[in-house]
Amino acid sequence: MSAPEFIQVALPTPLRRTFDYRLPCDDIATAASFSQQLPGRRVAVEFGRQTLTGIIVSVSNNSQYPAEKVKPALQILDDSPLLDKNSLDFYHWAANYYLHPLGEVISAALPAALRQGESANLQASNHWQLTKTGQQPAETHLKRAPKQAQLLGQLQTLQHWSDTELRQLAIPPGKLKPLLEKSLISHQLRHPSQDHDRPLLAQQPLTLNPEQQATTDAIACTGFNAHLIFGATGSGKTEVYLQVLEKILTEGKQALILIPEIGLTPQTIQRFQNRFNRTIAVMHSNLNDTERKQAWLMAAKGIADIVIGTRSAVFTPMPRLGVIMIDEEHDPSFKQQDGFRYHARDLATVRAQRAQIPLLLGSATPALESLHNARQGRYQLARLTQRAGEASAPETQIIDLRGQALHNGFSQQLIQQLQNTTDAGEQALVFLNRRGYSPVMLCHHCGWQAQCPRCETRLTVHQQPPHLHCHHCDYQRPVARQCPECNSHELHYVGQGTERTEQTLQQLFPDTPVIRVDRDSTRRKNGMSEILQDIQTGNPCILVGTQMLAKGHHFPDVTLVAILDADSGLFSTDFRGIERFGQLLLQVSGRAGRAEKPGKVLIQTHLSDHPLLNLLLRQGYDHFSREIQRERQLAKLPPYRAMALLRSESKRADNAHQLLLSARQFLEPLAGQTPAVTLLGPLPAPMEKRNDRYRFQLQLSCDDRKTRHYLCTQLLEHLEHQTLARRVRWSLDIDPQELS
Ligand code: ADP
Ligand code: ZN
Ligand code: ZN
Repeated sequence: MSAPEFIQVALPTPLRRTFDYRLPCDDIATAASFSQQLPGRRVAVEFGRQTLTGIIVSVSNNSQYPAEKVKPALQILDDSPLLDKNSLDFYHWAANYYLHPLGEVISAALPAALRQGESANLQASNHWQLTKTGQQPAETHLKRAPKQAQLLGQLQTLQHWSDTELRQLAIPPGKLKPLLEKSLISHQLRHPSQDHDRPLLAQQPLTLNPEQQATTDAIACTGFNAHLIFGATGSGKTEVYLQVLEKILTEGKQALILIPEIGLTPQTIQRFQNRFNRTIAVMHSNLNDTERKQAWLMAAKGIADIVIGTRSAVFTPMPRLGVIMIDEEHDPSFKQQDGFRYHARDLATVRAQRAQIPLLLGSATPALESLHNARQGRYQLARLTQRAGEASAPETQIIDLRGQALHNGFSQQLIQQLQNTTDAGEQALVFLNRRGYSPVMLCHHCGWQAQCPRCETRLTVHQQPPHLHCHHCDYQRPVARQCPECNSHELHYVGQGTERTEQTLQQLFPDTPVIRVDRDSTRRKNGMSEILQDIQTGNPCILVGTQMLAKGHHFPDVTLVAILDADSGLFSTDFRGIERFGQLLLQVSGRAGRAEKPGKVLIQTHLSDHPLLNLLLRQGYDHFSREIQRERQLAKLPPYRAMALLRSESKRADNAHQLLLSARQFLEPLAGQTPAVTLLGPLPAPMEKRNDRYRFQLQLSCDDRKTRHYLCTQLLEHLEHQTLARRVRWSLDIDPQELS
């Protein structure tokens, strides 16, 4: 066979194709011998006036372009493929399903450092261990340094650890210096390597209850088998993950665990670390580029046996992949909302199928899609109905707000219950999904409201520090002292956000610490873990926060949970709104009474008769979800139909509208008159103007995915030839999760 001369390269551009290059001259001689191994390597190429890093996806002896027009690539960057064939095939599948350029799909799969052409070598890092003296009880050597003794105690549970593991546990390496000086610990620089010398288990597993046991037994280690573990918070799902993991690791395979964006806590990682003597790679958005690359390479080179990561970890190559688990599988953060709009749960299903391995989805409030799949027999449904250990399910009660006097959103009954809780020395949690001080600034005299000049929305008042802030485009300005319309000084703040609720609680309970948890209060590095440590002391306090509080955390001493305003959730216009509300409500409720103390949940609402709210509270999520499912079926909505959303936005409303109109006109004859296809729009988006752009959407629903794929493929080709499509920002969202 003659040496291949051409390579097809996927580049991070919005163009839906690969690009031909010649092999770099120096490499042609050797190319013949390793042409099989070229795909998956990175290559530097000239693209227009830029130099880009791309991935070789195939090689060929000829090009579809005139040979003299094909430029030579600049340099092949890897000595061996960075991406294996299975991964490349998987990315191809994803690019085709989401109708997104392969180059951008691959970009999403690679950490930034590798995308930019950095070397794919693992770096050496510090490995720490306890010395002989360090293994003795911490108090022996550190009588007069209780903080250091505490740290040593924590390290003794680990025995040995890396710099990365330290960071995952929010311990700055600098804190180890005194222990190092006292020769209680030692360290050496090492390249990460597989950790298979020690016994797999570092800690004995718990004895499973019969439901947990049946669930674990039903999971086969080989072949594709998918399981939806539907169990309330605290019912022992994580213990099931751990024991399935044990089976997989025993067979020498790797495990991929996906978790929601803000659900990853040091506690979660520690639970895995405490159980297994195996290398764990963690991937989430708080890592710097070097850490991210290191974790990715440890997974891709098979050094890490356990990979725990958020959404994009679903793309990580893993040569010995043996299971994929998704915790809190209903969480909206598994869907990417811009650029390459993939759903990690859906992709994980495909990946598990292709790799012929088990898939575990777990949630107390499964997504309707997943329940549908389970009810159709595509997933095996495992119910965990008991709370594991000591805890019992919280008691739930509605507080009907109609006609009641409210103090900054608090009813008398709620204030009294909070009082009882703090009197008993226990912790309470007040949930409000709105940050800032107040959502509306209003002139009492003329009714003027502070609006964002760039969006069709009101500005949120913040007090720490004082300013007005648009939560949609980040526009900020000082708080006005006077109404710009009528010069009145009587400006009122209407409604409450977390800042105001924190202030109200401080005034009502001056002797109890009030801790606010939202995106603003946790912005500092380690902000969240410091707050969590405060809460974990168990001292009485009142927590007030957004959904950041609802996810994954264990608050064993919280015995009262209050939902300050359930109405906003019940009023949502999105067809998924009520599902999301139900999930959030139960997730928040699940924070109460996790330990031996019983919990109570109070829900404030003006809509106390709302049928779905009552169904949820009286009969539980199973019945609630069946009812929503019935409504979706009647309304012909997902999961009963395959949806795609074409969005457009432009500074000129008519351009954005016109583009979608032409899309509709193009689709109509293709779709024919069959009821199997529905087109809705173009309609203004729920927020019609954002960041100075007018936004429209066209909704396409089909009875099956094949039809949708066909129509969308045609549509994209049509749009690529429209001049208007170059002046309007547009995007196609396959399986949209939000119609915003
Ligand atoms: P989930 O992941 O469903 O929220 P966890 O697995 O975290 O539930 O379990 C909740 C608590 O119950 C944990 O403290 C865990 O250690 C404990 N637990 C779980 N399974 C068992 C069991 N079989 N026996 C005793 N305790 C258990
Ligand atoms: Zn006014
Ligand atoms: Zn704005």
